[in-house]
Amino acid sequence: MEAYTPGEQPDDPNLIKLNTNENPYEPAPRVLKAVREAVGERLRLYPHPTADPLRRKLAALHGCSLDQIIVGNGMDELLALATRAFVEPEIHSTTRRSGRQIIQYFTPSYSLYPVLAAIHGARVNEVPLNTDFSIPRQALIKTAGWKSEVALTYITTPNAPGGQIYRNEDLRRLCKNTKGVIILDEAYADFAPWNTMPLVKEFHHVIVARTFSKAYSLCCQRIGYFVGPEPLITALHKICDSYNVNGLGQVAAAATLDELPYYRENIQRIIQERDRLTACLRQYKFNVLPSATNFILAAPPVGSGITESWFEHLHERGILVRWFPHSAIRRFLRITIGRPKQNRILGTTVGELLKSGPLP
Ligand SMILES: *Cc1c(COP(=O)(O)O)cnc(C)c1O
Repeated sequence: MEAYTPGEQPDDPNLIKLNTNENPYEPAPRVLKAVREAVGERLRLYPHPTADPLRRKLAALHGCSLDQIIVGNGMDELLALATRAFVEPEIHSTTRRSGRQIIQYFTPSYSLYPVLAAIHGARVNEVPLNTDFSIPRQALIKTAGWKSEVALTYITTPNAPGGQIYRNEDLRRLCKNTKGVIILDEAYADFAPWNTMPLVKEFHHVIVARTFSKAYSLCCQRIGYFVGPEPLITALHKICDSYNVNGLGQVAAAATLDELPYYRENIQRIIQERDRLTACLRQYKFNVLPSATNFILAAPPVGSGITESWFEHLHERGILVRWFPHSAIRRFLRITIGRPKQNRILGTTVGELLKSGPLP
């Protein structure tokens, strides 16, 4: 099997790091203070086993009960947990009749899903998105290879790496048409004009997945969570590792929820910069797709050199972006929105590279 390929995490702090969708702004001062104060004698004690103080705050935020929330060591842990809980490994399966061994998702979307399926020995049903990364109309009426009976469906919304947001009306139809558990992966929801949280209240089989990594500047602390129907969340709690959420992470995330105005301001800044960088690259004739996230997909102008060369030339000049060899997106660079100055340097560098002629 193939392992998940994470983006490069270089040691050089002078690099302009626009490759892993991290937030360019630091955590709120009071969050840093809370973490500093939690470092001390207490580190010898176990943290809260199910992160209840944090779950209580999240329940209040989303207007649901404590039993509808599970916190994980990043959302990635919870996605793995859901795979284990809701999908039958094919090798152990006694029946081949149903979709109980199948994990379904659109491609391209989050590249961790096929890895989780492979680890678990599950079958996958990959349904290609349209070339503009919209949901194929036929999927909404149960054709185009979309299966209506599978164990688990992952939908990244807004999509990554596409950046598009899907209409809740379309997702509602997909949820109605699809049996088995559906996870709406909302890692980027805070950068989008709307979110799918209302769907949790409408269905017994729909879970919304969130993370503190992208919008709340806490990648390093590894905190993600699910909001979903109580029976599904209870099932996940039964099989999760004891003390799965580290203590400092719990402190940081709980403190973050007391500082939401600080983060909303940063999110607005990132959205403004996203629009500015999009306009800048379009002036250089890049094909930039509309984005509802903290990154953009941008294809260099035809005749300016292949996208992989662009990736390498930017890298040589100290700017890290991401390039994926997957056929549907290999024309594009994925660029995380940075601070205004970083985005300006990217724009200037792109202009210089274009002037020097087609890249070898
Ligand atoms: C970043 C990301 C995650 C994982 O977030 P963590 O909480 O850092 O594990 C999940 N899904 C998507 C689509 C992401 O981009």
